[in-house]
Amino acid sequence: MIVMKFGGSSVESATAIARVATIVQARVDRRPVVVVSAMGKTTNRLLAMARSAADGQQSEAMRQLEELKEYHRLEASQIVRDEDKAELAALLDGHFDELAQMVAEIAEVEEFSPRMVDAVSSMGERLSSRIVTLGFRHAGMDAAHVDSRSVLITDTRHTQASPLFPRTYARMRDVVAPLAAKQVVVMGGFIGSMQDGATTTLGRGGSDYSASIVGAGIGAEEIQIWTDVDGMLTCDPRIVPGGYRIKTISFAEAAELAYFGAKVLHPATVLPAVEKNIPVLVLNSRNPEVSGTRIVKETVPCRNVIKSIACKTGITVVKVQSLRMLMAHGFLHRIFEVFDRFQTPVDMVTTSEVSVSLTIDNDRNLDEIREELTRIAEVEVERDRAIVSVVGDNVRGTPGIGARIFRSLAGINVLMVSQGASQLNFSFVIDGTEVRPAMQSLHAEFFSTLDPEVFA
Ligand code: ASP
Ligand code: MG
Repeated sequence: MIVMKFGGSSVESATAIARVATIVQARVDRRPVVVVSAMGKTTNRLLAMARSAADGQQSEAMRQLEELKEYHRLEASQIVRDEDKAELAALLDGHFDELAQMVAEIAEVEEFSPRMVDAVSSMGERLSSRIVTLGFRHAGMDAAHVDSRSVLITDTRHTQASPLFPRTYARMRDVVAPLAAKQVVVMGGFIGSMQDGATTTLGRGGSDYSASIVGAGIGAEEIQIWTDVDGMLTCDPRIVPGGYRIKTISFAEAAELAYFGAKVLHPATVLPAVEKNIPVLVLNSRNPEVSGTRIVKETVPCRNVIKSIACKTGITVVKVQSLRMLMAHGFLHRIFEVFDRFQTPVDMVTTSEVSVSLTIDNDRNLDEIREELTRIAEVEVERDRAIVSVVGDNVRGTPGIGARIFRSLAGINVLMVSQGASQLNFSFVIDGTEVRPAMQSLHAEFFSTLDPEVFA
């Protein structure tokens, strides 16, 4: 058995769903369980609709509802067999009537509670999974729908629910696996339910997580995440054209890259797969012949020292200096307490005896943070900086990498340097305007020859 997950853009239209059907059909022998996101931007549109209702604009909300219904009807009607037309009409009416009731309830109380957010936003996947099931039948497959809410059992934290693993895995094993042995199973990602049956969601973008949970629960041999990129690359193509596809990467390396706009996959979402040692593949639904990127638990032997160079721009550096820090204790604690109080994640830190530099990416509360820090130290803020990170298992233990990095950066002012505790990455901060030349020169330095086993 394998799990195949398709995101919103992969199921956004009749054409896209037909493409998905072709991809799945070609892998029917592997007994796929298909997990789908809501069609296109449906989740955002559902939430906007409910917000209109909560703001007292019920007629605007109803207009948005009709628009969404028409969108689903129009796309779905093109990929449904004649004998299933009545079923499609009934399912659209049923789901949108339920939504209209929710809109009325939200408008009545003028509040969009977390419970309601889940009830409303789950509709995208509830609909898409049923429509895709019909689309698969149209394409000639024997497809069965499973309502994820009956098998993915979660705690009670609406909008950010976590699965109750033993229960969920038992349901997957008892319900999904036997069905998948006979039919192509289709399920909605992102959604689940509490033990009392109330609908929950796993957080925005949660369908990858669902796919990983389903894969772990049914003991899949592989989990495929179908996206619209060819896989993970040695470099962001918008910055350095001509990067190479990474054929295999370790989970730890993928996790290091995730922070840096390697938006392909959030590492936390593949944890259930990693725990069960199930490989996760990133594949392109618009280019299905390409073998994508395989994420595996173990270190990947590689003749190149690094796997990828990543960067993140729009970074703010906060420099904190105080002579009081000299040989004192508790100073770092006081600094970090301020960031914690203003709910601001700190990403990179370097210290000397009398100063601390740190980077933040979310500067919403920067003014307050600066004011608080000024009570205990001198504070300087530098905006529009960038973090560049060189990532690979071999960074640990290969001598001379620092020298190669700094040689490549000749002429570029390096503001902070850090080699992470994992030792899989070597990161530094530079001015945002120097990202392009820095990345180009690093890419040329580290990828002039390639291990063909690892890169394509
Ligand atoms: N449809 C949900 C969202 O847009 C979940 C997902 O696409 O992964 O956040
Ligand atoms: Mg998505």
